[in-house]
Amino acid sequence: MKNKTTLDANAAKKFLQANWGIKADLSALPSERDVNFKAVGEKTYVLKIYPEVNATLKASLNFQNKVLNFLQDNSIHCAPAVIGAKKNKTLIPVSKSSYARLLSFHDGVAWGNAATHSGEEIEQLGRLIATVDKKLASLKITQTEKNSLNAPFMWNMLQAGKILNWSGKIEDQELRKLVEKTLTNFQKNIVPELKKLPKQVIHNDGNDYNIIVGSETLSLIDFGDMIYAPKIVGAAVAAAYVGLKSEDPVKEIATFVRGYHSINPLSLDELSIFLELVKVRLASSVANAALQRGNNPGNEYLSISQNDVPRTLKLIDAFDKNFAIFRLRNAIGFEANPNAKAIRDFLLTAKPANILKKSFNDLKRVYINWSFDNPEIPRSTSAIEDLMAKTGADVTIGYYCENRNVYQGEAFKPEAASARTFHLGVDIGMPAGTEVFAPLDGIIEVFNNNSTHLDYGPVVILRHKTDTGINFWTLYGHLSIDSMPNWKIGKEIKAGELVGRMGKEEENVGWPPHTHFQLLTDLCGMGIDIYGVAPRDEVALWRGISLNPNLILSIPNGTDAHAKISPESIRSERRVVISQNLSLNFKKPINIVSGSGAYLFDEKGKSYLDLVNNVAHVGHGHPRVVAAAAAQMSVLNTNTRYLHQSVVEYGKALTSTMPDPLSVIFFVNSGSEANDLAIRLARAHTKAKAVVALRHGYHGHTQSVVEISPYKFLGKGGQGAASHVGVAELPDLFRGKFTGKNATDKYIENLKKTIKGLKQPLSAFFAESIVSTAGQIVLPDGYLAAAYKLVRSHGGVCVSDEVQIGMGRVGDKFWGFELHGVVPDIVTLGKPLGNGHPLAAVVTTPEIAASFNNGMEYFNTFGGNPVSAAIGQAVLEVVYDQKLQLNAKNMGEYLRLGVKELGKKYPIISDVRGSGLFIGVEMMIDEKTPATKEVADLMEFALAKGVLLSCDGPDNNVLKIKPPLVITKNDVDLLLTVLSDWLAKK
Ligand code: PMP
Repeated sequence: MKNKTTLDANAAKKFLQANWGIKADLSALPSERDVNFKAVGEKTYVLKIYPEVNATLKASLNFQNKVLNFLQDNSIHCAPAVIGAKKNKTLIPVSKSSYARLLSFHDGVAWGNAATHSGEEIEQLGRLIATVDKKLASLKITQTEKNSLNAPFMWNMLQAGKILNWSGKIEDQELRKLVEKTLTNFQKNIVPELKKLPKQVIHNDGNDYNIIVGSETLSLIDFGDMIYAPKIVGAAVAAAYVGLKSEDPVKEIATFVRGYHSINPLSLDELSIFLELVKVRLASSVANAALQRGNNPGNEYLSISQNDVPRTLKLIDAFDKNFAIFRLRNAIGFEANPNAKAIRDFLLTAKPANILKKSFNDLKRVYINWSFDNPEIPRSTSAIEDLMAKTGADVTIGYYCENRNVYQGEAFKPEAASARTFHLGVDIGMPAGTEVFAPLDGIIEVFNNNSTHLDYGPVVILRHKTDTGINFWTLYGHLSIDSMPNWKIGKEIKAGELVGRMGKEEENVGWPPHTHFQLLTDLCGMGIDIYGVAPRDEVALWRGISLNPNLILSIPNGTDAHAKISPESIRSERRVVISQNLSLNFKKPINIVSGSGAYLFDEKGKSYLDLVNNVAHVGHGHPRVVAAAAAQMSVLNTNTRYLHQSVVEYGKALTSTMPDPLSVIFFVNSGSEANDLAIRLARAHTKAKAVVALRHGYHGHTQSVVEISPYKFLGKGGQGAASHVGVAELPDLFRGKFTGKNATDKYIENLKKTIKGLKQPLSAFFAESIVSTAGQIVLPDGYLAAAYKLVRSHGGVCVSDEVQIGMGRVGDKFWGFELHGVVPDIVTLGKPLGNGHPLAAVVTTPEIAASFNNGMEYFNTFGGNPVSAAIGQAVLEVVYDQKLQLNAKNMGEYLRLGVKELGKKYPIISDVRGSGLFIGVEMMIDEKTPATKEVADLMEFALAKGVLLSCDGPDNNVLKIKPPLVITKNDVDLLLTVLSDWLAKK
């Protein structure tokens, strides 16, 4: 197309200033259809000029503006914002038939300009498209808009059948045939499926030049190709470009699908046609390029990706259909092969014959660690013979899903993220000549002598059937040459019949005698070359194709090495296997593999001072706690329906830490459960239902306690207060509703009003003594005493939530409420009790316990079991024996003093509060502006320096410091240095 601009850069510059009042320097941007300028002023923009605008284009531009505004209004900022000109107009006439609009510029490079993309980036792209699609699903459009979105358009996939009219222009005959096959199949088989799916507005052009890769974000530009279609059409368009430079495009597409699905779930019906849609887009691209090349021989833009497009189309077309579906299923978190469950279920009750002469029960076994972790793998035949002689073993076992450093060749090079290092079989090692028998009736599917050094040597695959007729396969590698004459494709081998003999080192191409035994749910089109070792970035996929062979072997000690996968793989799996509203800390989440004392360690051994974890109360992995757990676990674990000394002894030990009459204890498993039970106790005792809680307070995640947690029900996604719940103002003397003189009285007055406002009898008042989620707010002196009095005068009971702060953490006292000189009616305990073991409790008075004992039995399966009790007792004793309360007091004081000292120099530190090792540092830019971004930055800065911090409060501007109680002066100094370095750099 000729550049028929109506404005050159100079004129455009003046035009921009005249209409938008923006002074900027302009430079031309490449474009297929319009004339675009990058305008750099105070901010950066794209000035788009449309040389010839007819009524259709004008309507389309107005619609694009509507869509972009809709996205911005809904906080989707990964697409351009439309910048209104004077009088808020968004489409400005340049001349009679020419118009202009201004969009925000998204800095970065086009996706297509980078040679490769990591899996994480590809997932991010999937999430980008999904985010836009998901929002657009709720966009309301008029019938006229719908009509124009459905108008004849070359890039509307729903009309792709028409492309057959000009596919003849494709010169390469083989390619033409493939394009026509794809489009014909689409018309016949895919369109009817698409018709069943709901339609919406979709962007429809996530090609690799419409994706802008910024320093941290991706953006989607060019909304000029929108259509009205099922969301999967737009997803397939973007996916089509994702694999363009890859030798394995289906892998990249599956990665894209994972990202997409994690935001906007895809169904199996959608997945089943996904790759065909990708192919249709690629085929359309080939055909349209052929057409347009004919019309515009000189236009480079039109052929920008044409070499990669046909290549990718061919690769996808040739890819095994089952394997493709496995990859897509795995991408959305389903087990890769849908038959795997049925095969596993069949094997769980099948009775396979022994694969060796004897059962593994009757053979002395020694496991060999072939992994990267073992520097001294016994690799030679003689080393293995020595090992067997030394241990008296009859057989050696090599693990399934072990990460191995022993293979050779390009695919196995351990440096690559996708290196094939995860072993999928179980190796069974015995002397050469040992007979190997079929465990189940089978038929020889395929066999070969894979004679490359370190391959299988003689190898055979048997096909079996479950009782419901589903095929599965077993593979036997490294057999002897003299086993082979017995093999013939299609030959039946009954359970217990000879398959072959283990080969000598020279015939099984370089391995000590053994057989590699593998259980396969599919051969993925690879036949005898089916992977025996999986790419380490696709372990989850292969676990769902090549099952643990111990389902057949039944080796009593198991065979799964569960070798570690990369943090990137864990994160990716998490997106689809674990619910997305379980959030992760930090921009790049860390993979913590061990802990000791106040320190945590990642997979590379980097240490982090843990100032976040008030669960690991006496330090991570405390040896006394670990020993108590192991000792009790090895003797007995049962429930509270039998007499057991420890539950009574520990119960008494805990209640003894509380003032009279708090003497009856209930053991539960979590803080939420403790608070739920507290509600029940209060209701049973008061015969009332209503609860009052403090604003921003949190008491747990179950339904009943979310209902009394303003932090949740008034926060994002919250449903507001239930009719039985009142929210009292948080007595925050620093930034709360009331500050200054008599503020505490005003808060009590407010509590009174809240109780009255309930218009029903009061059951309970819930409060922490230092309100954690509100930003470590220390309740003012006198508040709790007055509040308890008021609550009791209204017939309610007082619940102190000590889940976060209890057990010596506050330094001056053992429990938080004791700082206020009050005695609650019910105390709930959680986090620290079990030092990480799920142990929580409710302590109350004999009267309340008696009211609860109303005939309905209270039983808790896990609560108070002997292992939990032994752990709880050990934790309590460590707190006493190591004088941890005193350490909390001293270290807390030292820490607060140090931070206050820094605050003298750096006014951003505006309040330092807390007690013992439950500390809040509130950061403010000025009196009114919370330092939210700065605190987030500090957390990342500290992370890099090996210090873990968290933040909270309604503005997320309060650093929370609540470490294990074992921290030392050196640890505090480390924090102070990091803080001071950060402050100095600001
Ligand atoms: N109460 C408070 C004060 C809490 O902070 C929490 C957890 N953060 C809970 C209750 C709930 O405890 P859990 O997560 O063990 O259910």
